[in-house]
Amino acid sequence: MPRNRNGAEVIVVGGGAIGLAIAREVRARGRTVLVLESGRAGSGASWAAAGMLSPLGEALDPGPFLSFGLESLALWPSLAQDLEEESGVAVELRRSGKLRVAFTEPERLRLHRRLEWAREQGVPARWMEPAEVTRAVTGIGPSALGGLLLEDDYRVDNRALSQALLASARKKGAEIRETERVRGVQIDAGRCTGLYLEDGTTLEAGCVVLAAGAWSGRIQGLPVAVPVRPVRGEMVALRPAETPPSLILESESAYLVPRDDGRLLAGATEDEVGFEPGPSASGVHSVLTAAIELMPSLAEARITETWSGFRPGSPDGMPILGAYPEVDDLFLATGHYRNGILLTPATAQSLADLIDGVEPGLLPPEFNPGRVFASAADSIPA
Ligand SMILES: Cc1cc2nc3c(=O)[nH]c(=O)nc-3n(C[C@H](O)[C@H](O)[C@H](O)COP(=O)(O)OP(=O)(O)OC[C@H]3O[C@@H](n4cnc5c(N)ncnc54)[C@H](O)[C@@H]3O)c2cc1C
Repeated sequence: MPRNRNGAEVIVVGGGAIGLAIAREVRARGRTVLVLESGRAGSGASWAAAGMLSPLGEALDPGPFLSFGLESLALWPSLAQDLEEESGVAVELRRSGKLRVAFTEPERLRLHRRLEWAREQGVPARWMEPAEVTRAVTGIGPSALGGLLLEDDYRVDNRALSQALLASARKKGAEIRETERVRGVQIDAGRCTGLYLEDGTTLEAGCVVLAAGAWSGRIQGLPVAVPVRPVRGEMVALRPAETPPSLILESESAYLVPRDDGRLLAGATEDEVGFEPGPSASGVHSVLTAAIELMPSLAEARITETWSGFRPGSPDGMPILGAYPEVDDLFLATGHYRNGILLTPATAQSLADLIDGVEPGLLPPEFNPGRVFASAADSIPA
């Protein structure tokens, strides 16, 4: 029998880094908030990630992604400090820097162009000649043609991050219910009034935020489903025989992210295989091959873990952040693809601003959900 349970002023669907950070921020601003998470909080892509915070390394050009990424990066040090104080969980935020190594001439030229944007944006970066790369990183591939050092790139322990966000949000008074799967949202007369769970229970809400990562497209009850698809990424953790570099290392086909405990996280594949679970033998093989090309000494490293996760991919690769078109009190915070950990702080602030009815200063208009629904706009009832 369908039942009606009290909801909250704000209900967030999805307890990944994005949903938890939004809940924490909304609660800190004084509203009641409830997070509904179908599994365990922080067990989705936010668990599977490598934890790089690399706006310039990830930007394809100097556009809105780069500016939002830089804004978000600037918020990270204070967020990490607050989370550690509030939760007692160490999130291991480190300004490690990232060295993107060129092994081919076209890649060397691309990296030089990226160095120019870095300078235009005022991002600390410099070129390292091959001899300097070899001196800085013991065991790097001998055919390195130099590398772009992004001095202001950070890394964070994303698994610890989710636990810290969960504890901090709860401490501030947010209610987080795990193993509660949302089936759909309720829309009455152009307004989102709440949602319903798998068992038919309905919950009322002042507004709803969909932050269900790669699963956001499965939420029912919308005029048009959210166009997010899963992009599987497979990773391998390695324990090298020798002390690994403290920098994040990257080539065209692999990255190596250090952890304080001496492991290197090697990643990652990008597989369009729907929700097919991994890791696959071919995925692990390709990650290891690319990692060993980047750093041949890793051939001797011990494999300590393999895993996979589903990135939330949007049609144009950019986040989908803001109001659902033509439905009041329904917000989307998804599509963060390869950069949801980096974008967590700026996303949380922007969504909390929108819920407060304040113009979010940080949010580029290019991330407005309207763009990804544009082709289906005629089918959305007025
Ligand atoms: C291999 C890999 C490496 C990555 N590396 C990096 C990196 O180095 N840096 C970076 O910034 N980003 C990285 N990312 C991307 C980053 O992990 C994601 O963009 C980010 O975690 C998305 O966060 P989220 O909270 O939206 O999604 P998720 O963490 O997936 O959370 C969504 C949550 O919603 C829940 N859910 C789903 N459906 C429902 C429902 N119906 N009802 C209730 N709950 C539901 C899920 O159980 C899940 O917990 C990586 C991703 C992968 C897979």
